[in-house]
Amino acid sequence: MLDVDRTSRAARIQAGILGPDLERSLRPDGLTLRHFPQSFEFSTLGGWLATRAGGHYATVYTHIDDLVESMRLVTPAGVSESRRLPGSGAGPSPDRAFLGSEGTLGVITEAWMRLQDRPLWRATESVVFDVYDSAVAATREIAQSGLFPTNCRLLDPAEAFLNAGTPTSGGLLVLGFESAHHPVDATMATALAVCADHGGRSVGHSPNRSTRDPAGVEDDAAGQWRSSFLRMPYQRDALAAQSMIVETFETACTWDRFPELKAAVDAAAAKAFLEVGVVGVLTCRFTHVYPDGPAPYFGVHAAGRWGHTVEQWDDIKSAVSEALSSRGGTITHHHAVGRDHRPWYDRQRPEPFARALRGSKAALDPAGILNPGVLIDPLRHTSGRSSS
Ligand SMILES: Cc1cc2nc3c(=O)[nH]c(=O)nc-3n(C[C@H](O)[C@H](O)[C@H](O)COP(=O)(O)OP(=O)(O)OC[C@H]3O[C@@H](n4cnc5c(N)ncnc54)[C@H](O)[C@@H]3O)c2cc1C
Repeated sequence: MLDVDRTSRAARIQAGILGPDLERSLRPDGLTLRHFPQSFEFSTLGGWLATRAGGHYATVYTHIDDLVESMRLVTPAGVSESRRLPGSGAGPSPDRAFLGSEGTLGVITEAWMRLQDRPLWRATESVVFDVYDSAVAATREIAQSGLFPTNCRLLDPAEAFLNAGTPTSGGLLVLGFESAHHPVDATMATALAVCADHGGRSVGHSPNRSTRDPAGVEDDAAGQWRSSFLRMPYQRDALAAQSMIVETFETACTWDRFPELKAAVDAAAAKAFLEVGVVGVLTCRFTHVYPDGPAPYFGVHAAGRWGHTVEQWDDIKSAVSEALSSRGGTITHHHAVGRDHRPWYDRQRPEPFARALRGSKAALDPAGILNPGVLIDPLRHTSGRSSS
């Protein structure tokens, strides 16, 4: 943490800082970056910027893209440092060009990040539905209402049962609002009224509660889900040692395409389970919701065959990736591209853009030393010059 500008609410931060250290450094000033990916504990600011990470809040300020004010990047061709600005219409944004570059164009060394006051007011509720389509409709209405919930996770019945201990035939909507500025009871009441219009019933044990004390808020289904969210990666490792395939994949699509995409992914997963010879369960939750569409996040829990679980997962992952990509979804909403998603990413991006990316790579990293094979194929070298 190099510098804190309390007036503009921004801080200059080195890229290697881990999530908990970053938040700890801001706490004395009453500030927060308020970016909490599930990997928060072990991931860095530089990694979040390089992969365009998504925090756990469902709407508005949750993507690292929107929190960056300026960025410093060391490339083999020189140092790129953008100007601190709240906004700018001066041509294509240098920061946007490097966000998500996954280490292929340069090393991010520091950034000025936009901060927020620490929230004081919070309210959380859990709402169950009998019919999944009604739950999706309620979630869409809330996403399009301008209420901007901090949490708006629709868990399908399998996810609600496995990770929130809530039996329901239509799904569980975990709703949350928070503010550093004002109580949020009224906003929560409006969102609950939307849910009721679609047949949702609140099962939060203390409805319409807005509190300054977060400790007492989440001891219901929402709290149970939250603690299982934090435990999930650790559980995954323990279960993998018992030859269980416990994995996730995620996407985003427009609301009009969601029913078809979900049906295609369900069918592809069921077929893949049969083909690789496993008994498996597929779960789905929305991690983020936008006015024009959700970001569905799928979980696979399958009994694998010891010694073969990696190949079995590769086959399942390939089948579901094909299904979501062919139904108009993105190959990743926030897990990034890396090497796993390259084939689908190549098909998703427009070819002129791919050429521009290769051009940027050749200009900034002419020897092709930065993460070869990530995002684009390694540059071919001919008589001391590189080409793509
Ligand atoms: C259990 C688990 C949960 C996760 N949950 C989330 C989540 O909620 N939201 C989310 O968005 N992602 C999530 N991820 C994915 C991942 O943690 C994030 O993408 C994270 O941003 C990666 O940061 P990192 O510091 O670990 O980077 P690394 O994994 O070390 O690196 C990722 C890529 O970024 C490049 N890179 C790293 N630092 C820099 C730098 N300073 N300059 C240039 N390039 C750099 C690396 O070369 C690599 O290509 C999760 C992953 C796991 C394993």
